Amino acid sequence: MPTPDVTVSRSATEPALVCGRCGSRSAPGRAFWCATCGRQGTFSYERTPNRRLRDLVEGGRSQSGIWSWGDLLPAVGSSAITLGEGDTPLLPSRVAGPALRLESLFLKVEGTNPSGSFKDRFQAVSISVALHQGFRSVFCVSTGNHGVACATYARRAGLDCVVLLHEEAPESFAEACAVLGATVARVPASERDDLMEQLFADGWFPATCMAPFPIPNPYGIEGYRTIAYEVTRDATREIDAMIVPVGAGDGYAGVARGYRDLVAVGALDRPPRIIATQPIGADPLVRATAAGEDFVPDLGETAPSIALSIRERESSQMSRRVMREVGGDAIAVTDDAILRAAALLADEGLLVDVASSASVAAAGVLVEEGRLKRDAAIVALLTASGARWPRPSSYQFAGRILRGRAADLRRLIL
Ligand SMILES: [Zn+2]
Repeated sequence: MPTPDVTVSRSATEPALVCGRCGSRSAPGRAFWCATCGRQGTFSYERTPNRRLRDLVEGGRSQSGIWSWGDLLPAVGSSAITLGEGDTPLLPSRVAGPALRLESLFLKVEGTNPSGSFKDRFQAVSISVALHQGFRSVFCVSTGNHGVACATYARRAGLDCVVLLHEEAPESFAEACAVLGATVARVPASERDDLMEQLFADGWFPATCMAPFPIPNPYGIEGYRTIAYEVTRDATREIDAMIVPVGAGDGYAGVARGYRDLVAVGALDRPPRIIATQPIGADPLVRATAAGEDFVPDLGETAPSIALSIRERESSQMSRRVMREVGGDAIAVTDDAILRAAALLADEGLLVDVASSASVAAAGVLVEEGRLKRDAAIVALLTASGARWPRPSSYQFAGRILRGRAADLRRLIL
C-alpha cells in the first residue's frame, strides 16, 4: 500500500501554464486566466518529461500509485494527497473480447480506484494543488463519478467542498458526496455557470474539467497521464490502440499527453492509436474529427443516452488538438452496443458504469468496420465501477432476483 500524503519533489525542468490562445507562459499559480491576453480557461499545464519516466516505465510494476510518477505531475510540495489511487489492473478480456471477435483485448479497470472511478487520478492531483496553493474550499460539476472523487479527496485534505450535481445523476451519488461531508447542489444547468463564477469570485478552487465549464482547471488532467504510463509499464505486448470513453475530453487529452511524453523520452517509438468514443447524438468530438475540423462544436443539446457519464453537448478544444498531435481518431456508438458490451463485461466479473463499456463497444465496431485489425492489441479503458449506478431498464441480467419465503425460494434455486 502506498504511504499516505507522500512528499513530492519539484522537477529540475520548470513547468509552466501555457495559454492556448496567445501561447504565453506563466508560472503555475492561483491565476486561472492569462495575464497577457486576459482570456480565461485556456491554460494547459506543460512540462518537459525527463529520463526518469523511461526508467520508471522500464522498471516494472512499482505498486505505489500515481505519486510514484511524482515529478511528472504538477508540483505540490508536501501537499500530495493519496488514498491509493492508480496502479489499476490491466486484464486480458476472457468474454467480451472473444464474443466481439477481438483476438487481443485488454481491459484497464479503473473502477478499482478508491472512489470507484478514474476521476480519482484527476482529483488526487487537483485537490493536492488546491491545498498547495492555500485554498480552503473547492467546487466541481459532475454527473456522478467526478463529484464523489472530488468530495473524497477534499475530505481527505480537510477542504470544504461543493458538488454541483447533474439533475439526472442518481441519488446514490448525492448521498455519497454528502456522507463525505460535501454540500451537494442540484441546480438547473442554465444556472450552473453563474453559481460557479460566484464561488470562484469568493475564493473557491475550481476542481473542474477543462470543458465545457467557465473556469477550467489545468492541473487535474495531468493525473490521467499516469494511465498511459501504467499501461506501457504493465503491457505484455506492444499496444496498437487505446480506446477512451469521452465526455468533456479530459481523460482523452490526459492519456494522449501521457503517450506523447513516452514517445518524447524514447520509451515508445510511436503512440498507439488513441481513439475517443462517445454515444451517438452526444458526440461533438466525433463530429469534429469526422469533418476534419479543428473546432469542436457545441451541439446545443444531446440525444438521450444511457451513458450519462459521457453524455455532453461540448468537448474540450484541447482534446481535439491533442488528438491531431498523436494521430488519434474518434467513433460514436449506439446505446444498444454499449449495453451489450456492459453485459459481456459482467459475464467476466466486471460491473462497470455502463458508459465505461462504450470503449469495448467501440472496439467491436472498429474491428467490424475494418478500422482496426482483428488481431490488434487493444486496450479498452473502463473508466468507472457500476456499483452506484442503477441498471437501465433495457439492461439484461444474467442472474435472477428472487423474493419470497425461504421454502418457496429453495425450490426455485435448486
Ligand atoms: Zn493568452
